[in-house]
Amino acid sequence: MSPRLIDLDILSVVVCYRQYSTTVCPKCSSKLVERIVKKGPNAGTKFLGCKNFPKCRFTRNA
Ligand SMILES: [Zn+2]
Repeated sequence: MSPRLIDLDILSVVVCYRQYSTTVCPKCSSKLVERIVKKGPNAGTKFLGCKNFPKCRFTRNA
């Protein structure tokens, strides 16, 4: 599987907040939180999303 960033998908799925990571968002300097995609083709995928989502849409692969 090629790693690909989860971007637009997370706009239409429900994500659950997990725990804060030690990583800081490079865009707005907020903490990133660990999330899991609940629905859609990427369900079950763990990723890091900005705490300010959806204001800040930075995501990265966990
Ligand atoms: Zn951010």
